[in-house]
Amino acid sequence: MNYRHAFHAGNFADLVKHATLLQLLARLTASGGPLTVIDTHAGRGLYDLAGPEAIRSGEAQAGVGRLMAATNPSTDFQPLMAAVATLNSGREIRRYPGSPWLIAGALRPTDSYLACELRPDEHAALRDLLKAKTNVRTVCADGYDEAARRCPPQGRVLLLIDPPFEQADDYRRIVSTVAAVRRRNRQAQALVWLPLKDLETFDGFLRDLEEGVDAPILVAETRMRPLSDPMKMNGCALVLVGDEAGMAGPLQAVSAWTAGALGEDGGARVYAVPSP
Ligand code: SAM
Repeated sequence: MNYRHAFHAGNFADLVKHATLLQLLARLTASGGPLTVIDTHAGRGLYDLAGPEAIRSGEAQAGVGRLMAATNPSTDFQPLMAAVATLNSGREIRRYPGSPWLIAGALRPTDSYLACELRPDEHAALRDLLKAKTNVRTVCADGYDEAARRCPPQGRVLLLIDPPFEQADDYRRIVSTVAAVRRRNRQAQALVWLPLKDLETFDGFLRDLEEGVDAPILVAETRMRPLSDPMKMNGCALVLVGDEAGMAGPLQAVSAWTAGALGEDGGARVYAVPSP
């Protein structure tokens, strides 16, 4: 477990994931009964952009730094931009929120949030950050196992799966976890983040997901450059499983702005699997 999100917090992939997450949460909390969010790979919840990791990588500067300075980003970024501005008290951007901070802030008192993080140091920071929130539980444990075990059998559930892809079996475990959660609760939705390196790996994952999970699948690809070097992260994808909740428009807008404004000769594509 060498992965440290502090190097990548606030990069283009975080912007796509977090802008989409906030749009989805806004729709799911606008009405309806209590929502349970399970975050399988939560991280520490808050990142220091003035710290050595962020400075060394430069990824936040090329991501959230440019978003916050942009004159007309898609309006679908507004909730994320507002969250970043609030976190930094409207001043210079030195801190960036992780999914736990954003989720905990978006939920209603009747909703609940389970955040799983395997690294003890990251989990300790996360637990400390969210300790005042009564509807939030954090666990230092494997998020795939926890999601399958703790998903409530009834009620609305959103599963966020955002692994570091350090392990060869992450793709397989995503499919088996979404399948297990959907077997337990037919209403459950899942939002999965994946890197885009080469299309062979990604298409293979989509085929396995389609075979393993009986639910509608909506895919958004954000390509930051042509996928010619499979050793590089050339972009990212979000895969929404279950009811798409009116998310095709926001996904297209967020992905297209990111690829166009922050990428080089890339592009965006949103499509259903299998195509209708
Ligand atoms: N979701 C976070 C966000 O949007 O702010 C970022 C998560 S980061 C990409 C992945 C995190 O998963 C890391 O903090 C890593 O320590 C943790 N991790 C790795 N394997 C895990 C596992 N099997 N279960 C839970 N957490 C894991």
